[in-house]
Order: sequence, then C-alpha cells, then structure tokens
Amino acid sequence: MATRIDSNTMALLALRCPRCHQGKLFSHSALNITKFADMPALCPVCNQSFEPEPGFYFGSMYITFAFNVATIFLVGVPLYYFFGNPDTWVYVVTVTVVTLLLTPLILRYSRAMMLYLFGGAHYDPKWQDSGRAVRS
Ligand SMILES: [Zn+2]
Repeated sequence: MATRIDSNTMALLALRCPRCHQGKLFSHSALNITKFADMPALCPVCNQSFEPEPGFYFGSMYITFAFNVATIFLVGVPLYYFFGNPDTWVYVVTVTVVTLLLTPLILRYSRAMMLYLFGGAHYDPKWQDSGRAVRS
C-alpha cells in the first residue's frame, strides 16, 4: 500500500496523479535518457486521464521557459559574483551543461504543473467510492 499524500504540493513534487495522489505520472525513471518523458495515458491507480486533450502539454513549454530562465540566473549570478565574471564562453558552457542535465526534471515538473493547474482533475481521497471511471 502506497503512502497516502494529502497535500497537492507534495503530490506534485512526488509527480503523482492529481486525482488519487498515488499513481505515478511517468512510466520510467528520470535517468532513462530515451523514455524520461513517457507518461501513461491513464493513471494506473484511478484511471484519471493524464492527457485531457490532444496537445495539452504544449502549454508546459511556457513553464519550461520559466524554469530555464531561473536556471540561467541561478547559474549566472554565482558565476559572476564568486568566479570574478569569467569569459562569456564560461557562462554559455556552464548554463548549457546545467540546463541539459536538468532537462528531465524541468520537463517532468513543467508537465506536472500543467496537469495540476489546467488538467481539471482535483484531489479526491475517496475516488474509489465515486464509482465512475474518469476519462475526461
Ligand atoms: Zn490517479
């Protein structure tokens, strides 16, 4: 039996289904370089749709952009202040490497935030009792 997560924030951070907070949003490990973005169509626990409409996750590009801007600042500012404003290529290489390393996490959390904010599913701790198979 999986540990019950009541908080939406904790369920999002754990990348769990927005409805049951138990089913995993992604099928494979974030370290699986070819399949880190694969999501099941439905929650394996409660049958909630993970793709409410075709192209639903295009909107997560904006969230990804925000994460990448934050990454540029979080890498660039320490480089400027702690490494004495190095050459431009140092910024470019460092930001590129960090961004590439964080891509699986940024993509996953962007999609999860999109699903939690705009997916139309809400936490239902008694989802088993609702007696309906959700396919919205
Ligand atoms: Zn679920």
